Amino acid sequence: MVPSKNWARMCGLLVAMLAPMSAEFAWARFEPATCKNAFTPEQELTEGQKVAAQVYHQMPVLPDSDPVTRYVQQLGARLVQHAPGARWPYNFHVVASSDINAFALPGGSVFVNLGTVQAAETEGQLAGVMAHEISHVVQRHSTCNITKQQGQKVLYGIGSVLSSVLLGSGTAGTLAQSALGLGQSLTFLRMSRDDEKQADLLGTGILYDSGYDPRGLPQFFEIIQAKSGSGGAQFLSDHPNPGNRTEYVDAEIATLPRHSDAVVTTAEFKRVHPLAMAETALSSKDVDAGLWKKSGRYASGPSGVAGVVSEPVVAGQAGSVQGGGPERSGSAGRLSQSALGIDGKMTRLQAARFVLDYPAAWQKQVDASGTVILAPVGGAGATGIVYGALIDLEKQSGDGVTDAASLKAATAMLVQRLSEQNAGLTQVGEVTALTVQGRMANSVELRGKSPVVEAGAALTERDWLVTIARADGDVNYIVFVSPERDFALMKPTFTKMMKSFVAQ
Ligand code: ZN
Repeated sequence: MVPSKNWARMCGLLVAMLAPMSAEFAWARFEPATCKNAFTPEQELTEGQKVAAQVYHQMPVLPDSDPVTRYVQQLGARLVQHAPGARWPYNFHVVASSDINAFALPGGSVFVNLGTVQAAETEGQLAGVMAHEISHVVQRHSTCNITKQQGQKVLYGIGSVLSSVLLGSGTAGTLAQSALGLGQSLTFLRMSRDDEKQADLLGTGILYDSGYDPRGLPQFFEIIQAKSGSGGAQFLSDHPNPGNRTEYVDAEIATLPRHSDAVVTTAEFKRVHPLAMAETALSSKDVDAGLWKKSGRYASGPSGVAGVVSEPVVAGQAGSVQGGGPERSGSAGRLSQSALGIDGKMTRLQAARFVLDYPAAWQKQVDASGTVILAPVGGAGATGIVYGALIDLEKQSGDGVTDAASLKAATAMLVQRLSEQNAGLTQVGEVTALTVQGRMANSVELRGKSPVVEAGAALTERDWLVTIARADGDVNYIVFVSPERDFALMKPTFTKMMKSFVAQ
């Protein structure tokens, strides 16, 4: 648990707000629980925003100028005034999907499907669903869940796990797929029943404090339940019913004094609801098919989000990143040779404990744990590393790596852990010995699934792991990543990078 005072110190963007709710109110209120969380609030915000950017690539998000979006944003702004906990930079968006669903990303981006707005009969019902989502943000459920799932058995340190799970890294291709689903659902957002109960109870409080009749929440659950038979409510698989949902929410509501002027619905809802009904809501099949991307009707990315945190550092010449987007041919993620930096100019990376040359056209990203990701523009990002390299340090116990045998054992251990954490990643060929700048090194290749999906199937990915014995007994390692079909093309560049590696 991170005390809230430290939050404020650790993260300038977030002003910690104490939530002495039970002290201020005479009646018993649900207190948000805290859970073990390996993410700093700043990481949570940064990574949540990266995932939000990805949502725009995978889902038809209505532009902020849309009247339904504007209405949902106003409603959200009203609700978050009554959200306890840290003041995340909440922002609200509408996805043109007919599924009755809503989801909240770590750090405060809340997406409400058009199907949800259409299904709501009153503003209080819609506000109830949104208050439930806000409650997941308040309680930091998704990052707590990632922390729980990953435990201590993490290969790259938490910063990279976060990238792997939220964004997908190339060597964690499977994680990327299970996490982001690449066009399917955001499975890490699937909440446990306990999370659900907490979000229901906290959401009831937020709804009530915002002036609504809190019965809007259980009423909406009933609507969802009634429609789930016809397969229209994805909400229930992302937000499973903890059992007795209506009963415990009703019991919570019974503890709250009734206000005769509690809002059930508004004139604004009555004005906007027909507009929402008239909007095109796409089936999940149509959302996945992605033809909507060509329509130009939907937003290309988040805008006007408060507290945007820095993008990955861009190395190299500005010219290489002009155009603002990945240099792709089609949606396959295949990059041009100039973007890949093949035969191009190299630049030197001076990292905390090593130096390395890499193509000047590439970008670098260094996370809190010191993991370095180098990748061409468009070669890594929200869908993971497609082309690029990940460099990290593996601490060794005892004397560490002192000879060929201990290096080989350390390499085997890394291969095993890579495979364990990336189902489908298998070693190709034997581990071979080499020297890198006079240091003992090992080389081994692995094959797995690329984050790139073509014609409905993941491409095969080739990973090249190089381990280098350090003078201090620890091991540096580099994982080079490329789709298998381009691996031969990339290998000379990877080799140049590898040969330039000097541990410090
Ligand atoms: Zn939920």
